[in-house]
Amino acid sequence: MGRIYYLYFERGIEMNSKIKVLVTGAGGFIGHHLVKYLKNKGYWVRGVDIKEPQYEKTSADEFVLLDLREFDNCIKACRGVQEVYQLAADMGGIGYISSSHALVLRNNALINLHMLEAARVNNIQNYLYTSSACVYPQYLQQDAKVKMLKEEDAYPADSEPGYGWEKLFSELASQYYNEDYRLKTHIVRFHNIFGPLGAYEGGREKSPAAICRKVALAKDGEKIEVWGDGKQTRSYCYIDDCVEGIYSLMRSDYFKPLNLGQDRLISVDELVDIACKSAGKKIVKEYDLSKPQGVRGRNSDNTRLREVLKWEPVVSLEEGIKRTYKWIESELRAKGRI
Ligand code: NAD
Repeated sequence: MGRIYYLYFERGIEMNSKIKVLVTGAGGFIGHHLVKYLKNKGYWVRGVDIKEPQYEKTSADEFVLLDLREFDNCIKACRGVQEVYQLAADMGGIGYISSSHALVLRNNALINLHMLEAARVNNIQNYLYTSSACVYPQYLQQDAKVKMLKEEDAYPADSEPGYGWEKLFSELASQYYNEDYRLKTHIVRFHNIFGPLGAYEGGREKSPAAICRKVALAKDGEKIEVWGDGKQTRSYCYIDDCVEGIYSLMRSDYFKPLNLGQDRLISVDELVDIACKSAGKKIVKEYDLSKPQGVRGRNSDNTRLREVLKWEPVVSLEEGIKRTYKWIESELRAKGRI
């Protein structure tokens, strides 16, 4: 039956309502947005996570609380679906991942090995693994004016301790399942995805959300704390582009790792300035050099992304930060904190 659905796709006729998909990590930031996106496309969606989405009710047809470190739970999660988007991971901002190497590596390796095997046992037709730019070698990211990172730069490997090494290992595991068992495993390497409905406090938030929160809580002219010296650089990709890219990759016949991010290099100082502009505030930056800042510079080379998907992210950083700032500010206001 599955093959028939795919023939409809090839003819451009959307029969998505007949396809059942699983989104793991559906209680998290990207997974929650992806569930909404897939529902809008007409899919039947099962969401799985160890927690419910924090800020908005899920739009999944079925939402199941399961710990995916357990193999039996991965089997249950994959039962009766044709496609799997594997987004479950123990992760957070640089503060969290740099202080929990053993825990993060163990939790994520268990989830990924068990999910791949459960997908194989359940004859899943299409599988997506969410990797990260943290797989790229640290020796290529020591300068703020970093060279854009191409997919093949991941080797010789020298990934981010803990989280990054596990991502690289699970990329390989995904590729082996493709080669040995013909499981169609797609591998995406995200570069700093941000947007509304993501963590903005509590330790797991990423820099764009943390900066928007600090700016929202500060009064005009006040100081905010910035981790590092503000000169470290990154590229940032808005969530709507991220889910669009994930979906196109799943529909492609491309099975090697692929970057998904923006290729505009921005310093943390510039990111703070953009958030201040959205807020209409002037803020004084106070640098804390004792805080972790990760690699010195990191940027995505999108050459392969353009070749494979005939597409690249379109939402500007200014627009993305404007929408994210607005959401975080409204959350803090609703909690009576501003
Ligand atoms: P997130 O933390 O918001 O979502 C991950 C979800 O996985 C969480 O809801 C968490 O509860 C769930 N989870 C953790 N352990 C679990 C378990 N044992 N069983 C079931 N669920 C479990 O993170 P996100 O930003 O939405 O990231 C999604 C994926 O993208 C992850 O694989 C992450 O490593 C990857 N990624 C994200 C970024 C980014 O910038 N957000 C960058 C690179 C890679």
